[in-house]
Amino acid sequence: MSRQRRDFAVKTARALVQSSDWVVYEDLKVKNLVKNHHLAKSISDASWSIFVEWLEYFAKIYNVPIRAVAPHYTSQNCSGCNSVVKKSLSTRTHQCSCGVSLHRDWNAAKNILAKGLSTDGQSGINAWGQNTLYPKLETVLDKVTG
Ligand SMILES: [Zn+2]
Repeated sequence: MSRQRRDFAVKTARALVQSSDWVVYEDLKVKNLVKNHHLAKSISDASWSIFVEWLEYFAKIYNVPIRAVAPHYTSQNCSGCNSVVKKSLSTRTHQCSCGVSLHRDWNAAKNILAKGLSTDGQSGINAWGQNTLYPKLETVLDKVTG
């Protein structure tokens, strides 16, 4: 990885942590993704795992809760009604019969957030601060669920 790309990963990770109450990310298996030609370009150089390392580092420094969740179904499921809406990588919009219409990445982000909030998210790497988590989590839940 070039110095430039490394610096970009550091800056982006720091900015993300500083502007967030907490962070949930997909625990992507980089090796498997790189086998997929469509994704090989965007996830080369193990950029993602370097980025995640910095993300975890800054989360510790700034005391921001962080959690990794399993990536399964985050792009195919509807963030509104949870039905499965099959789409190929070239389909950029998530369009569901329940009326939800979102950019596919935004839909996936909402699913990742919901996974991070769910109490059964134990399959992910748990890097939450032990005592500071729950008051923060409740605040976030209030915001999300209204
Ligand atoms: Zn739906």
